[in-house]
Amino acid sequence: MAFEKLLGQNDVKDRLNRALGSGKLSHAYIFAGERGIGKKTFAREFLTAAMCTAPEGSCACGKCRSCVYLKNGNNPDLLTVTADEGKTIISVDKIRDDIREAIAKAPNFSAKRVIVVENADTMNEAAQNALLKTFEEPPEYAMIILLCDSLLTMLETVKSRAVIIEFKRNTDGEILEKYRMLSGEPAGSDDVTEELVAAYADGVMGRIDEISGSGDANEKRKRLTELLPGLFEGSIEAKNKIKEMIDVRNKQYDFVFFSMMSAIRDAMLLTRFGMKTKIINADLREPLFELGNGAGYYRLKSALEIIDECYKKLGRNAAAELAVDDMLIKIGGGF
Ligand SMILES: [Zn+2]
Repeated sequence: MAFEKLLGQNDVKDRLNRALGSGKLSHAYIFAGERGIGKKTFAREFLTAAMCTAPEGSCACGKCRSCVYLKNGNNPDLLTVTADEGKTIISVDKIRDDIREAIAKAPNFSAKRVIVVENADTMNEAAQNALLKTFEEPPEYAMIILLCDSLLTMLETVKSRAVIIEFKRNTDGEILEKYRMLSGEPAGSDDVTEELVAAYADGVMGRIDEISGSGDANEKRKRLTELLPGLFEGSIEAKNKIKEMIDVRNKQYDFVFFSMMSAIRDAMLLTRFGMKTKIINADLREPLFELGNGAGYYRLKSALEIIDECYKKLGRNAAAELAVDDMLIKIGGGF
């Protein structure tokens, strides 16, 4: 069976294994689910098996030319389409030119020619309509896999012509198992508690990558807890240091936001219900209690709202650096 090494998503595994085993593959698939949920990893294994020229059941052989070239990252029968650098949407030209050109040629070494469209939900209507043309009369050897975070922006006409594979959130048990696999030890044996891992991942496997192994994320979390009291007191130094940690350019800020929000929420709980209250950042109980005493419950509460608002703005790609600055200044009480 394929996908054995991947944790969870049993429905997805069943459906894809059945399709591969029967050899009855559709020309178009939509893999839908939260960013980081594993769509790419599953798509990779799925297409490898579909392209393999000597599959064993639903598994790729690992030895044929298709398999070897895929492993080396240079199989010309696979095309991956993404938005151009600096662009947030996939343009109609890209779909029209790249995909049509690729699909017109029979595969060189593989059983199928596969086209993967990443972030397919960023295709505007024109791009999706252009894609439909290829969906209507695809050559026998072609397979298109669309990866998208949400089905909401996908046209009905596109959805109805594809097999939709939906990825569900993982259980906390699966998340903790993945954490153990990645960091070589269970959560709780280091400073990262099970509660923290489960709360941060919120059922999304990919988020674990950021907090396991490197130890860097844990450093960030501790550093933020050190800096937050200063921020609430209006220290410009603290503000600038936190700003440095929020990497808006490379969109690496999820964990910093999570850490800020969970630290502040923990501080609120400790202020309200005392030192023994169950919190996420259990190893930082003392400094968070101090933070709560210093800033006070209501300032913490309004800071949470300010941070949440900024986080949403970043998601919409609004003037990011400005939004972060604005947020930090507001929390500091205007400086
Ligand atoms: Zn093979």
